[in-house]
Amino acid sequence: MASGPAGPMSRPGASDRVRQENALSLLKPSDSGVRPVYKRPAMRVITSTSALSETCSRLAAGDYVAVDTEFMREQTFWPDLCLIQLAGPHEEVIVDPLAEGIDLKPFYELMADKSVVKVFHAARQDVEIVFSEAGGLIPTPIFDTQIAAMVCGFGESVSYVNLVKKITGRDLDKSSRFTDWSRRPLSEKQLVYAIGDVTHLRDIYTHLKTELETTGRESWLDEEMAELTAPSTYESHPENAWQRLKMRVKNRKALAVLIELAAWRERQAQAQDVPRGRILRDEALYDIANQQPTAPEKLSELRTLSDGFARSQRAKDIIDAVKRGLERDPKTVPALPHNQPMSAEATATIELLKVLLKASAARHRVAPRLIADSEDLERIASEAEPDVPALKGWRRQLFGEDALKLKRGELALTLAKGEVLALSLPNS
Ligand SMILES: [Zn+2]
Repeated sequence: MASGPAGPMSRPGASDRVRQENALSLLKPSDSGVRPVYKRPAMRVITSTSALSETCSRLAAGDYVAVDTEFMREQTFWPDLCLIQLAGPHEEVIVDPLAEGIDLKPFYELMADKSVVKVFHAARQDVEIVFSEAGGLIPTPIFDTQIAAMVCGFGESVSYVNLVKKITGRDLDKSSRFTDWSRRPLSEKQLVYAIGDVTHLRDIYTHLKTELETTGRESWLDEEMAELTAPSTYESHPENAWQRLKMRVKNRKALAVLIELAAWRERQAQAQDVPRGRILRDEALYDIANQQPTAPEKLSELRTLSDGFARSQRAKDIIDAVKRGLERDPKTVPALPHNQPMSAEATATIELLKVLLKASAARHRVAPRLIADSEDLERIASEAEPDVPALKGWRRQLFGEDALKLKRGELALTLAKGEVLALSLPNS
């Protein structure tokens, strides 16, 4: 396995071309479109379409490519792609998407190439940016190392730094993480940091892939990976924008208004490419939804809005949204989540199920959340045999079957040397 930027290259031809290109670029950096940042290790920053095209066709010959992106979205609604890092089995490069005249088409073609596995760590935001920049393209097939780590004993939501440390023993310097990726030229420190996000990803991928094959757990990740590659995960539906808000509304009528307001704000933020809060803060949305003003001058009475807001064009739009919400038939509005207290019996059952879940997860080295979430546990506790993932397939084998036995009194939990142990009880 190639383990560093200067690692050996096994494929004849490709390696010669790379060396030639590097040597050439040292002499004529502007002509080749490849700017060497270091002579050793040779870190290449691609700034032209032709260099990108050559590199991507070499990368397309490999089994996989590790991918990472750096972007900025503090001042905008849509993320601004600032840097792309790629590492195949034999080479690694940085692509500068802000370089003048560069066309990222070869990169997007590589992302769409079904014969090359695209390896990401916590892929969602990277996929989202490819999806929005390349007109709905979703890189396939995908291997997400953060998800794979969940069935290889690394817990849930493990960070890249921790995974690198645990698998390769290396310590990464993350101090450049939140620097300004849109500035040019980028500092050497930024580039070293950026390339590290894909070079070690290769080692992690190889390690996790072997582990999954050895344990036969590849299919355990199917649902997670399917969600990651589903267009619906990335499509923007302003009418669903309310779902990311807290339900700080008093009734269904107020919720209907909140839905309209959130949709209006989402469209405005998208059209103007500014963060949502720049259009209207969340607090103001809740306030308006609960007060339901039907004339602009009423908006002045809300403490969450500034003086003079009532005279703006936005005020008129907001009043229209409020009216649309009020006109809606409350029966078509989703029910507010009711916080009905659980029975004491169900609460105790859930507590025991949690202990069993933790013990099963630890024994099989799987992150508990991948087996069952709190909704699963609540339903197992209160229904006979609910239709939940935890009672199907491998999850049932690891945990679900025992959970039902525990409920029926056929399983007991005890401790052995500090570890939780589930014991089958003899049938009485
Ligand atoms: Zn990164």
